[in-house]
Amino acid sequence: MTDFNVTRTRFHLPDGVIYLDGNSLGPLPSGAVDRATRAMENEWGEMLIGGWNTAGWIDLPTTLGDRIAPLIGAAPGTTLVGDTLSIRLYQALGAALGLTDRRVVLTDSGNFPSDLYMARGLLKTLGQGHQLRIVDPEAVADALTQEVGVLMLTQVDYRTGRMHDMAALTAQAHAMGALTVWDLAHSAGAVPVDLAGAGADFAVGCTYKFLNGGPGAPAFIHVSPRHADTAPTLLNGWLGHAAPFAFEAGYRPAPGIARMRVGTPPVIQMRVLEAALDIWDDVDMADLRARSIALSDCFIAGVEAACPALTLASPRDPHQRGSQVSFRFADGYAAMQALIARGVIGDFRAPDIMRFGITPLYTTRADIDAAVNHLAEVIATRAYDDPAFRARRAVT
Ligand SMILES: *Cc1c(COP(=O)(O)O)cnc(C)c1O
Repeated sequence: MTDFNVTRTRFHLPDGVIYLDGNSLGPLPSGAVDRATRAMENEWGEMLIGGWNTAGWIDLPTTLGDRIAPLIGAAPGTTLVGDTLSIRLYQALGAALGLTDRRVVLTDSGNFPSDLYMARGLLKTLGQGHQLRIVDPEAVADALTQEVGVLMLTQVDYRTGRMHDMAALTAQAHAMGALTVWDLAHSAGAVPVDLAGAGADFAVGCTYKFLNGGPGAPAFIHVSPRHADTAPTLLNGWLGHAAPFAFEAGYRPAPGIARMRVGTPPVIQMRVLEAALDIWDDVDMADLRARSIALSDCFIAGVEAACPALTLASPRDPHQRGSQVSFRFADGYAAMQALIARGVIGDFRAPDIMRFGITPLYTTRADIDAAVNHLAEVIATRAYDDPAFRARRAVT
């Protein structure tokens, strides 16, 4: 059994704060400061360039990938860490398109804009009649036709938390002769994921949300062993070369997942991520899921009872929901600012979504109850009418 009283102690949470935004940026793992300090003082400081070999910096993309793999149901040697999620998505989609003659990429309108922007940019670069087909999330299954070459979906919707059935859609895509690219940005560390069980072709995700790797922590990419040695590469950086230190004039991709490497890994940030991943060694994803659902259901019931003006934007059925709860409210931006002023931190997504991440590693039932009470007071007193809460900042 996972001891959530212990996992909570492994984070630094500021006094007086109830943090319901771990779906956007996880809090600081207590062990991260020491790990980063050691990486700087003992490794960089003492070893200088020798750190690449002596401290194993050069292998961090794969050693960290292997630590994330169990959280996403991936076999060892199939997952790699580095670069940002937007870059990884581009890379995965490009590889998938290189494995099919079909030209249509199917996705849904709930997908994160960056995924759509990156896909459009890639398809434009490829030319050749490639097109992005965007349908409603509920219409994805019906839109999977013989024309579709790649099904590219974010499993858990960043706004509503609605969760696609990865196993069913992957099976259906394969039956139609299509490949899959799954974005696990709001799945990794949030819900149990079984990439191998689903037979997923490619997956990408980020490590600064539910995995708590810190602002700007590098993303991950997973390539099924079926494709790892044949997947074409788009971003032919030297570290994805079969022999980077041969400095050959031509590019030869490395065998396996290493071909997805691009350039020099961010070592300090990776040491921070490593400390964050240590916490997961003591976590059973089934326990986490059960607690996430219990806390989410409790939050929904509390808010619906106390704030009739808010409308649930997330699926009510927990099996169709990731680990966040969203409500629609016309004054949602200002209401969220008023809530944050009271120490309850969630966030806002245009046009009217108040979003609350549910993160059982450090969020308790008492936090949920207190958050409901604060929200009820903000709504009842119309605290959101205060002009100070209406000015939009750069990051919402
Ligand atoms: C958070 C998120 C991103 C962000 O991409 P970065 O390149 O890390 O900024 C992309 N896609 C989805 C689905 C996300 O949730």
